[in-house]
Amino acid sequence: MDKVAIITGGSRGIGAATAQLAAEQGYTVCLTYRRQQQAAQTIVEAIQQQGGNAIAVAADMASEADILRLFETVDAKLGTVTALVNNAGILEPQRRLADIDSARLNRIFQANVVGSFLCAREAVKRMSTKQGGRGGAIVNVSSVAARLGSPGEYIDYAASKGAIDTMTIGLAQEVAAEGIRVNAVRPGFIYTDIHASGGEANRVERVKNSIPMRRGGQAVEVAHAILWLLSPQASYTTGSFIDLAGGK
Ligand code: NAP
Repeated sequence: MDKVAIITGGSRGIGAATAQLAAEQGYTVCLTYRRQQQAAQTIVEAIQQQGGNAIAVAADMASEADILRLFETVDAKLGTVTALVNNAGILEPQRRLADIDSARLNRIFQANVVGSFLCAREAVKRMSTKQGGRGGAIVNVSSVAARLGSPGEYIDYAASKGAIDTMTIGLAQEVAAEGIRVNAVRPGFIYTDIHASGGEANRVERVKNSIPMRRGGQAVEVAHAILWLLSPQASYTTGSFIDLAGGK
């Protein structure tokens, strides 16, 4: 069957590496972005130059209307989605919990949690064999922060990833008999732009000596785990987690 992947937040970092690897592995790819249209277009062109097929769609994960439009665009342009990577995510400047306000909590949970739930809902509607679909696979991009808690940095972000872990466990069981597998990766300390949004672009360098492997990770190392979880090689794997954090 045609492999059609939606990868949210595919303009940069882990999502961009995943989009490129997915295209290499024969997926037709829809990568999404929030603002950085040029970065998304660069990834699309890199995929096309390698002979792959990709489009980029602007869709804010904090907007249900954008998410509905994203899935309708994929239906119309690429065909029914068979793989969803819930990758888009944000964090905000490092703060203690005492200094986090409700506006920030709403932004974090809306983008990281509500957006992932709504994308999963739209994917399940289309994939479920119970609803006439052909099945599929979902990979949620959580974080080791879900089990480390990120004290002094961003407990809100860590808790949003805890919610993603719980959704992975529950949804995996809910749709296991409908041809859909749901798994998660939990990266940590990957060299991407996200640390700059936390106010510390060099965070990975600062913490790397506390990582058992004594190094940060590369986005493509996470992408390989995501692609394995999406693949038929992982056909008996659902409700599972792969941690990619150098042993931390
Ligand atoms: P990144 O380099 O900052 O890239 C973030 C991506 O998400 C970009 O494509 C961005 O689009 C998109 N995005 C952000 N907010 C969005 C929104 N509201 N709606 C739609 N798209 C949005 O991040 P990354 O490090 O690759 O992170 C990817 C995922 O891995 C996130 O879920 C993150 O929590 C998780 N993670 C990362 C690390 C790490 O060490 N890097 C560790 C653990 C977990 P624009 O380009 O348009 O802004």
